[in-house]
Amino acid sequence: MNAPATGLTPAAFDLDAIRAQFPILIEKVRGGRLAYLDNAATTQKPESVLAAIDGYYRHQNSNVHRAVHDLAERATTAYEGARDRIARWFTVAREEIVFTRGTTEAINLVAYSFLRPRLKPGDEILLTGMEHHSNIVPWQLVAAEKGAKVVAAPVLDDGALDFDGWTALLNERTKFIAVVHVSNSLGTVNPVEKMIAAAKARGIPVLVDGAQSVAHIAVDFPALGADFFTCSAHKAYGPTGFGCLVAKREHLDAMPPWHGGGDMIRTVSFEESTWNEAPYRFEAGTPDMAGAVGFAAALDWIESVGLDVIAAHEHQLLVEGTALLAEIPGLRMIGTAANKGSVMSFVMTVGHAQDIGTILDQYGVAVRTGHHCTMPLMARFGVPATVRASLAVYNNREDLEQLATALIKASRMLA
Ligand code: PLP
Repeated sequence: MNAPATGLTPAAFDLDAIRAQFPILIEKVRGGRLAYLDNAATTQKPESVLAAIDGYYRHQNSNVHRAVHDLAERATTAYEGARDRIARWFTVAREEIVFTRGTTEAINLVAYSFLRPRLKPGDEILLTGMEHHSNIVPWQLVAAEKGAKVVAAPVLDDGALDFDGWTALLNERTKFIAVVHVSNSLGTVNPVEKMIAAAKARGIPVLVDGAQSVAHIAVDFPALGADFFTCSAHKAYGPTGFGCLVAKREHLDAMPPWHGGGDMIRTVSFEESTWNEAPYRFEAGTPDMAGAVGFAAALDWIESVGLDVIAAHEHQLLVEGTALLAEIPGLRMIGTAANKGSVMSFVMTVGHAQDIGTILDQYGVAVRTGHHCTMPLMARFGVPATVRASLAVYNNREDLEQLATALIKASRMLA
């Protein structure tokens, strides 16, 4: 896991200094200290991201493109500058970055614009059993319309992908492959390089859902070899409602538009309209300029800390947290794959995840409970829900101890 080579030298890691950059971490919740362990749902934002968004609205805001006045030019420069920055992160050309509302919209874009026109009755779309609903439902929608089928590869008992089971499902009917890079429910890191190599050997396009990987694992898109990669800014210290699709230019150039409106056209008449080039063809309407600026600032921030430094710290916390949770009677971890990111998902014999989460909240511990938008995966493990504690770079040992102490209290209350 190496940070992208961008010329910035990561600062020496000082956890207190990192935490001090996140104003919300000193917020009192239920009258006490906040242990924010819901980072897989959304991360908190550092001062530099807040300042970039604030600065955009204070000094640059206008509508983008077709600029004739100074502020419109500033807004366009900020917005398109963000595209350059994000493209650099993934080592791609700026034309290969389509701005979206996030991972969900990016996957829908590929489903409707890339796959739908190519799909025939009997075709198969190969997923895995650990996909987020947003990497299942868009494929189901286009498959249902075209008489095609969604197929899901099995997940092993430890939460790793059954790679042989996945390979066995590859066949001449497989038209598309979509896979989550890091599972939001289990933390499992999938062997995407191996999967892409197997898919390429058969000429099958691959989409990698990077919602949970972008803030933890460096992604060099050309080196990865995927056709599409999707991510959400808000899971990487950036703003909500913004993200992107990274795609091979040859695909984008061949894809028809999917949303109609301003900015995505070249000419419009009542008889016929013609389309703008990619990526603008896929960005109808006034975009989220502040979102783009905020995401670019978030990537700058990650780079200044160092993705390798972040990954090492989170791994250390994962090891310590897993050890603390192992001491709690009746707690069963769901997802123990050898290659695992910073997620601890578990169930407890004393009660339902929802009740445990509610008690944890009373002690200032913010975790997510439920099916985490992975209902098929919950069914695979025979549980309706889990408690999920997920880590970010600003978490510390105290957060883990607060979680463990609150879990012991929850156990006593529910026993
Ligand atoms: N894929 C994964 C693995 C996720 O964890 C999430 C969000 O939790 C999504 C997709 C959807 O992301 P968004 O809601 O930002 O579009």
